[in-house]
Amino acid sequence: MTELLNVDDVLERILSGLHALDDETVDLLHAHGRILAEDIHAEQHVPAFASSAMDGFAVRAADLTGASADRPVRLLVIGDIPAGTRPDVSIQAGQAARIMTGAPIPPGADAVIRVEDTSEQWASDGEAPLPEHVDVFRAVEPGRDLRQPGESIQTGERALARGITLRPADVGVIAALGRATVAVARRPRVAILSTGTELVAPGALLEPGQIYNSNSYMLAALVSEAGGEPIVVPTALDTVADVRRRFDEALAQQPDLIVSSAGVSVGTHDVVRTVIDALGHIDLWRVNIRPGKPLAYGQVGGVPFFGLPGNPVSALVTFEVFVRPSLARLSGAIDASPAMVEAALAEDVRSDGRRSFLRVRLEREGQQWRAHPLGMQSSAELLALARADGLLIVPEGVRQAPAGSRYQVRLLRALSDGR
Ligand code: AMP
Ligand code: MG
Repeated sequence: MTELLNVDDVLERILSGLHALDDETVDLLHAHGRILAEDIHAEQHVPAFASSAMDGFAVRAADLTGASADRPVRLLVIGDIPAGTRPDVSIQAGQAARIMTGAPIPPGADAVIRVEDTSEQWASDGEAPLPEHVDVFRAVEPGRDLRQPGESIQTGERALARGITLRPADVGVIAALGRATVAVARRPRVAILSTGTELVAPGALLEPGQIYNSNSYMLAALVSEAGGEPIVVPTALDTVADVRRRFDEALAQQPDLIVSSAGVSVGTHDVVRTVIDALGHIDLWRVNIRPGKPLAYGQVGGVPFFGLPGNPVSALVTFEVFVRPSLARLSGAIDASPAMVEAALAEDVRSDGRRSFLRVRLEREGQQWRAHPLGMQSSAELLALARADGLLIVPEGVRQAPAGSRYQVRLLRALSDGR
């Protein structure tokens, strides 16, 4: 038996051989969730001009010195400036212009007085006639309720950095800078190939000894979630000829990565490694991880290849630990670290000395999280995984983890404190 490889060493070796794919330009409406492949610099100030932050009147602050509800200051209203227009007035002493949020500040004005602080009341149907005068009930300092040019983003400023995953607010920023398209990382094409003579596609009837193929579907979902484009290849029987045929089919799809499941263990029909030895090479095999020990990594036809174990839980754990970061690397993502929390074990746990990923449900207890291991921790127990909030990591070397010991939990979903 070969030595089991260290999880961190394996990940580092895999990542060091992977490089960001080329990028593509997408319409801003399709940018959400993609990895930004350029730095976004502002080519102009945002906002580009001084504008009003409120609905009210553009004024000269000096005119309103000493104004109060008891001693209002009366100003002559000389114009009306809705948003989207260009002011055609200039404010002199004793004058004001009605102005709406987002409208440009007219020359001469240095502040905005909110409508609530005046004698005016408007219906919002745009029908309010322009008054001749307005009484103002308070003083303002210059600059009050004005947005200055460049207040939000300065010309030349780097607004967004290459490698971030675009969230809705980022898309808004890019639009605010006037960009209709943006460069994003191409989605890695990931061929998914489940092997196993026992596998039947969901929807068909099971014969004795057969099981439904869950891994292809789960892995396709994981790949999509991780920003890749899944390409599911038909399952292979556990024969060298059939596995080889399916790998050829996978390669014909010109994938950036091939992920297979099952057939990498030490059983008599575990032929995936035999086929890879013929079509490429295995660089790494057998990792000090539980579940997921039989993980293999290498190259097939020049394409990086993960041979994940067949047990669904092992397949998911090894996807999370090795494949997800690899997809992030292929996309040039810089913000891909998994969300982690620390939690205290709710019960005693035994481990076998491998780095173990336990399926846990998390419960808030005062200031801390308590982790409840879910039922059977068998690597075949998919439902416990579906119900888990996260994977609690018991480090290598630990064999007894008593209740109350604190460990890192890799989150599988967002947590709310109230659960
Ligand atoms: P293997 O890695 O081939 O030894 O498979 C380990 C276990 O995972 C066996 O019980 C297989 O039947 C099961 N298994 C393998 N592939 C899949 C799959 N695609 N979907 C669900 N279970 C699978
Ligand atoms: Mg098998």
